[in-house]
Amino acid sequence: MSNHPSEQPAETVERLRAGFASGRTKSLAWRTTQLRAVRALLKERGDELATALHADLGKGREEAYRTEIDFVVREIDYTLDHLAQWLRPQPVAVPERLSPATAHTVLDPLGVVLVIAPWNYPLQLLLAPVIGALAAGNCVLAKPSELAPATSRSVAELLPLYVDTDAVAVVEGGVPETTELLAQRFDHIFYTGNGTVGRIVMRAAAEHLTPVTLELGGKSPAFVDRGTDLSVVAARLASTKFMNAGQTCVAPDYVLTDPETARELEKALTDAVHALYGDDPAASPAYGRIVNDRHFDRLTGLLASGRTVVGGDHDRAARYIAPTVLAEVAPDSAVMSEEIFGPILPVVEVAGLNEAIAFIGGRDKPLALYAFTESQTTRERLTRETSSGGLTFGLPVAHLTVSDLPFGGVGESGMGNYHGHWSIATFSHLKAVLDKPLG
Ligand code: NAD
Repeated sequence: MSNHPSEQPAETVERLRAGFASGRTKSLAWRTTQLRAVRALLKERGDELATALHADLGKGREEAYRTEIDFVVREIDYTLDHLAQWLRPQPVAVPERLSPATAHTVLDPLGVVLVIAPWNYPLQLLLAPVIGALAAGNCVLAKPSELAPATSRSVAELLPLYVDTDAVAVVEGGVPETTELLAQRFDHIFYTGNGTVGRIVMRAAAEHLTPVTLELGGKSPAFVDRGTDLSVVAARLASTKFMNAGQTCVAPDYVLTDPETARELEKALTDAVHALYGDDPAASPAYGRIVNDRHFDRLTGLLASGRTVVGGDHDRAARYIAPTVLAEVAPDSAVMSEEIFGPILPVVEVAGLNEAIAFIGGRDKPLALYAFTESQTTRERLTRETSSGGLTFGLPVAHLTVSDLPFGGVGESGMGNYHGHWSIATFSHLKAVLDKPLG
């Protein structure tokens, strides 16, 4: 359903196309007005959005603000501070044989952008690309995830109250609605979710030669080197793994470490889980729930993949799975055969760095690789000898909070990137301009 309820998808796209053709989205003033409008929405209606996020995912209020609402506010503020500078034409040197002449590049908005978002950070992953598309001077059709229905409804109701509705539309719905949207011609499609649907999106885009950005997932490893401070390592692993009950695309999926460190890490991870959520995480307001029964059943099916170090208990009626650490997990076990996307952290043992690098290289390229090490050589080897969307030493997930770092995957974890000025590059055409005087 769109925010113009009687409208068909084709009509919504036509309306946005007319909005783009009017030319008004190109001015810096229009762009900054739209960004400020989304900012005002987040500031004025933040509590409503936090309530919706709690209804969908049991997200605690502090986490909802930190990882969704304020995350987007920060992205908006950073963009507002730098947009004029990012949009400046860039001069390019002209070869002597063309002289006298000048050349430069300009960033052209693409037109109408489709943003399709997933359920796990249903606000952030919808609005952060929308911000990028608007800042680059485009019209946007935003499709929230039907699996986070309260957030989807809130955004569909609230966004049109703040932004230019001839340039921004929200269409709610699931597979049938998205399928119909994908039959339309867009100038860019930005999809966040799983690789199976990523392929559907790319096939649909091919019909219209529409460029795509695919923000996908995968198993992001965390390598723990010998001789690191394991209380710090465990605290950082636990806080990033169990945030949003593990339903984070860049969560550390599994730990790779040597057997001796693995044993020591068991106690440190148990302490870290207790420090975060107390003795009974089910009673902690900071701990989330699994999005639906299907994912709950899938996840509980993975709990037998290793020896339980901490956690393991679960309650289907509440869709609760305790923060769980599994030890002595075999590389071919069920929990290692797919992206976990839930609060289960398996520890897989390898002899050391060489075997870890071979292990990572033998699997799909992950969205992120994390490593805890004091060794500069290890840092350099991991940087040179592995491929992943992002590589972060010392603090998982932190790379995506740096606006000027490109956030995106490689291979099975996706293509393209965004955040900060990278969003402008994604949602613009870099046009080459050459000027040779007639005289
Ligand atoms: P999801 O089920 O909400 O699907 C994402 C979107 O695809 C939704 O809007 C949904 O309506 C649409 N969709 C689903 N089936 C479709 C179909 N057959 N045709 C057209 N559209 C369809 O979310 P999900 O895919 O379960 O999300 C989890 C996955 O997303 C994980 O793999 C995770 O790692 C990945 N993810 C990646 C990022 C990132 O930034 N790289 C962020 C979050 C999640």
